[in-house]
Formats: sequence, structure tokens, C-alpha cells
Amino acid sequence: MRFACPYCNQHIEADDDMAGETIHCPFCQRQITIPAQSTLPPKMPTPEPAPPGAVPPIIAS
Ligand SMILES: [Zn+2]
Repeated sequence: MRFACPYCNQHIEADDDMAGETIHCPFCQRQITIPAQSTLPPKMPTPEPAPPGAVPPIIAS
């Protein structure tokens, strides 16, 4: 899940099965407890740009 550190408000990602565990914030190093649910909306999926050459250009002859 994703949540914000209550101290520095940085966004942190953790596995769902780590809920309730106490970790150190990777940003401010304070001890925080991973919430049971995400407190941030999930990342919007970013559309991957088509790799070059995937769609061959139509060459008018
Ligand atoms: Zn923090």
C-alpha cells in the first residue's frame, strides 16, 4: 500500500502484508507504523510509450 509518513509527509510504499509493522521512515528515519490500508490513492497507471518500431509508419509510395 501507499501511505504518507506522519512526520515528514513523504509518500512511502509498503507491501500489504506489512500492515501494522513498525518501520523506520526511509526519509526522516523516525519510527512509524504501517497502516492497515492505504492512505493515499494508488498511483495512476502511466501509459507506456509505444516502443519505437512497434507500429511501423505507413509509407506512402
Ligand atoms: Zn518520515
